[in-house]
Amino acid sequence: QQQKVQLEKTYDTQCPYCSMQCKMQLIEQSFVTRKKYLTIGKDNPTTEGRLCIKGMNAHQHAFSRERLKYPLLKVNGEFVRISWEEAFEHIKENFVEIQSKDGQNALAVYGSASITNEEAYLLGKFARVALKTKYIDYNGRLCMSAAASAAIQTFGIDRGFTNSLAEIPFTGCIILAGTNIAECQPTIMPYFEKAKENGAYIIAIDPRETATTKIADLHLKLKPGTDAALANGLLKVIIEENYIDEAFLQKRVNGFEEVKDYVLSLKLEEIEEMTGVPIEQIRKAAIRFGKEETGMIFTARGVEQQTDGSISVRNFLNILIASGKIGKPNCGFGAITGQGNGQGAREHGQKADQLPGYRSIDNEEHRAYVASVWGVNKDELPGKGVSAYEMMEKIHEGEITGMFLMCSNPVVSNPNAQFVREAMKKLKFLVAVDLFVSETARLADLILPTSSYLEDEGTMTNVEGRVTLREANYPVPGEVKHDWQIICDIARVLGKGEYFSFSSAEEIFNELRVASRGGFADYYGITYDRLRKEGGLLWPCPDLDHKGTVRLFEASFAHRDGRAAMVAVPNKPVIPKEQACEEFPLYLTTGRVMSHYLTGVQTRKSPALAARNVESFMEIHPSTAMKYRIQDNTLVKIESRRGSITVRSKWSETIRQDTVFVPFHWADSQNVNNLVSKELDPTCRMPGFKVSAVKLSPVMDL
Ligand code: SF4
Repeated sequence: QQQKVQLEKTYDTQCPYCSMQCKMQLIEQSFVTRKKYLTIGKDNPTTEGRLCIKGMNAHQHAFSRERLKYPLLKVNGEFVRISWEEAFEHIKENFVEIQSKDGQNALAVYGSASITNEEAYLLGKFARVALKTKYIDYNGRLCMSAAASAAIQTFGIDRGFTNSLAEIPFTGCIILAGTNIAECQPTIMPYFEKAKENGAYIIAIDPRETATTKIADLHLKLKPGTDAALANGLLKVIIEENYIDEAFLQKRVNGFEEVKDYVLSLKLEEIEEMTGVPIEQIRKAAIRFGKEETGMIFTARGVEQQTDGSISVRNFLNILIASGKIGKPNCGFGAITGQGNGQGAREHGQKADQLPGYRSIDNEEHRAYVASVWGVNKDELPGKGVSAYEMMEKIHEGEITGMFLMCSNPVVSNPNAQFVREAMKKLKFLVAVDLFVSETARLADLILPTSSYLEDEGTMTNVEGRVTLREANYPVPGEVKHDWQIICDIARVLGKGEYFSFSSAEEIFNELRVASRGGFADYYGITYDRLRKEGGLLWPCPDLDHKGTVRLFEASFAHRDGRAAMVAVPNKPVIPKEQACEEFPLYLTTGRVMSHYLTGVQTRKSPALAARNVESFMEIHPSTAMKYRIQDNTLVKIESRRGSITVRSKWSETIRQDTVFVPFHWADSQNVNNLVSKELDPTCRMPGFKVSAVKLSPVMDL
């Protein structure tokens, strides 16, 4: 017999997963003996009430029985419940001892791009003011650093989208390079479908056929890791066919002549050989993009997660600039962020080289300004640290001996994952803040429980650079605290409470606004009140009357001289990529599936999502599979020079015959990052997740 609903309550919030940051509402129905939850979409300017399968089931992890509710201390290898005051005393004792014995920089902070702007800002301040350590970086290093670095070098500023999403349906030609938005950011798809309905020509660049490449008119199925060369080939044709915008180049751009000389010296036959894309297809794509009056280019991790990721993106930006398709309506660039706050979390100071407002930690003026906001002496602020993976090397070298880790799972997400696991085990003291006992938290000495997207209010900056307010007022379970409360409490016990006396996320945001004022990512004009009334604002928004900046670079670029900087970058990366060889004859590339997010810490706890993909898999072309005696749906061992994993095979006609694909949401013996090399992009320190040479062997199913 059906029970009657006794009470129904609703809670507005935002999805905890990808960078679309869809607005949603939790409906909680109370029956006599149980509660039932449902998540529905809420209207908003970005996604108009749409949700994907991940968002619809987000509440399942928030209400999981495995949620952490109390601080846990590891005693003789077992976690035992302790009070917050005991936890803070342990932290104080260990942090003070580590810094007095091993040096001020022996403590490191590892942050996240899934936390709010307020928490990202506070974490950077905590490292520099409370711990006075130079070692802080975050998991966005593994995600957005190549696009960020390319945009800063070319445009002088890094906002992932130069335009708003609303312009996509009205552009004439779209290049989707290394992005599988249909699985990773599903609610963005209607913008592209609308563009197609309006007649846009869509070019996809990807080694695999995916749900995204299906909407393309032309699919350039390149060999993994050759995006930089392909972009140079496209530009060569655009210049040769005279689809360049001479007036724009003369008035607003530096470096075009050098780029032109370089790309004209390249041979399309060699580019065809390198990329595996036939010359006719390169020409067709370039001519179509060149001749349309408007065009947009979007990149994502396929282009960016490479040891030449930053120059690969720069080469795509060269195409936009040369053809004059930037700073105008329906023209521009978009780096499609993966993580929920991938944009905001890289602006407020949790990067090794950065202070809030996208200021540089090496710049004396920037240091002086931020120090004045924080009420400290600029000379006391530490200098530049190292990137996320390089902090692991510093642990092995004995320079870092303690770590404060917030909402991140580095033993799964980093390349050369076994090395990273060993590093975390070597730490004298590891504190992990998380919702669950993740694979990294399992190695911690102390785990602190934090609040979820239903409970933790704050701002998030979405894929297009729109700052949104995540309302979140569901009561926290057990003794859970918000990330910002945890940071403030630790600062207090370390004697730095005066700098962290915040009593709400809004108070932190108001300090962030001042700290960002005059910087590239200027949030000064944005307030919680405005966000509630106006539904989101695109930065820069320098004063309270400013309406936010929908389109960048209409009058000038952000370099001092106002001009964009083109640069000729070689086809061959500075650090040679692994090539398939006799011993490791195939290329491995990695990516996502729709039902999981990042390392799966949350989505693997959601029964509806976990059921869609219970385990990892390896996509392989049937001809390749036959060659290595691998049947469909059987276990296969994949080996690289770093290690091996075992996953189930999935035959697919849609992947290149020299390439296999494995998603990265699983841990331990299914963690594909065990196979990925430690080589980093020399500019932005992005690891080369997208190309590894591997060999395969069938495993007997037990
Ligand atoms: Fe929206 Fe992304 Fe959440 Fe899906 S995962 S509901 S697209 S924010």
